[in-house]
Amino acid sequence: MSDTLTVVEPATEAVLEEIPRAGVEAVDRAVARARRAFPAWRDLAPADRARLLRRLAATIEGHGEELARLEARNAGKPINDARGEMGMVADTIGYYAGMPERLLGDTIPVSGGQAFTVREALGVVGLIVPWNFPLVIAGWKLGPALAAGNTVVLKPAELTPLTALRFEQLALEAGLPEGVVNVVVGPGSTCGARLVAHPDVAKIAFTGSTEVGRSIAAGAAETIKRVTLELGGKSPNLVFADADLEAAAASAPGAVFGNAGQDCCARSRILVQAGVLDDFLALLERSVTAIRVGDPLDESVQMGPLISARQRSAVASFVPDGAPVAVRGSVPDGPGYWYPPTVLCPVDPGDRAAREEIFGPVAVVIPFDDEEEAIRLANDTIYGLSGSIWTRDGARGLRVSRALEVGVLSVNSNTSVRVSTPFGGFKQSGYGRELGPHATDAYTEVKSIFMASS
Ligand code: NDP
Repeated sequence: MSDTLTVVEPATEAVLEEIPRAGVEAVDRAVARARRAFPAWRDLAPADRARLLRRLAATIEGHGEELARLEARNAGKPINDARGEMGMVADTIGYYAGMPERLLGDTIPVSGGQAFTVREALGVVGLIVPWNFPLVIAGWKLGPALAAGNTVVLKPAELTPLTALRFEQLALEAGLPEGVVNVVVGPGSTCGARLVAHPDVAKIAFTGSTEVGRSIAAGAAETIKRVTLELGGKSPNLVFADADLEAAAASAPGAVFGNAGQDCCARSRILVQAGVLDDFLALLERSVTAIRVGDPLDESVQMGPLISARQRSAVASFVPDGAPVAVRGSVPDGPGYWYPPTVLCPVDPGDRAAREEIFGPVAVVIPFDDEEEAIRLANDTIYGLSGSIWTRDGARGLRVSRALEVGVLSVNSNTSVRVSTPFGGFKQSGYGRELGPHATDAYTEVKSIFMASS
């Protein structure tokens, strides 16, 4: 494999940058650096670690526009989305800057003395992240990992390494000690696998495909490494006949075509109560054809290209000749890995397009008759990441929320990712939770101490 990595701009297919590609030895060096930096970082006074993380958040915010442009070009995402993501990175680091002083333990009544618990940092943590939300997903892991006193080795996807590399520089600029944040750019099959196997890496936090997640869980078993996995999804968007159909149809495209559908939370199965199917489709067509697809740096664009030619052919395989295309948007001419927003209807729940994660701008619409069938169809998947329920009946909203086998969901909204609330999946969408007040649990061990009083 070449020692040079060519980073491509998906909207133009032009070379964005040529950078050195790391091998296994570079991973070992990064782990060694992180290991050396660990004791001092862990032992820093909590208020000082908090102060450095606040400075890091401010530094990211100060470089927000630069990072957003880099992310928009490298990942092919609309500039306004990229700005929002960089804001979230700064907010996430800022939120977890509050944690070093709040890693609380318990005191437990026992006889003969006092028992209490403390939370200990794990050591070196390996972060393996995908190309769809490169820095924002890294930020979800970096914030709690660093706040808890761990040092990290971050491996971005080879397709989108640029913002992670810039983050490593900005961490130093913000005053974080050398070796606390280390970025290694190299292939998952070698560099990622080495992080998973490395005896000095205490934990792997991974986001990516269910297939690779499975191999990481298996590989980590060798050293009993801690693992958290955020994997794929095939999330349902349930639209009941009593819903505000205009609102549901106006919001559905953003929930599946956002980031060109390359989103683990994409509500790509739109389940609509049969009595309102035609009305809903008419409204949906209006909002899908209005989506502006084009140059990610154009301020008015809402959807960019797919990440690669490979991803485009994978997506296209779900829409073979003769597929029931009910709505299709438009794409620009010329170079770029474009794929139009596409709605398939009617689709049988057993079809491949209704069962597998497409990870592109293709949604399926499936009718249902009643609440029971809606729940059964929604849960009929190996995945369980997110979902939405549209209804004006509050009790139904509550019932269906409890019945869905998913980790994050929303009622009369398609938003479910927030810095301050837990995020993660049921079933084969993974395990562990990121974001929110408990994310630091997954980056610490609980130690129980007993002190005798005699
Ligand atoms: P992968 O799961 O292959 O990649 C995610 C990350 O894991 C990348 O950094 C990758 O490195 C790394 N990686 C790959 N193989 C290994 C390994 N054996 N050990 C350790 N790390 C590894 O996703 P793809 O990019 O291949 O995308 C394929 C499909 O996965 C998508 O079409 C989509 O369905 C799903 N996916 C889901 C995501 C989600 O957010 N849930 C995110 C991305 C993909 P590198 O790429 O540099 O080789």
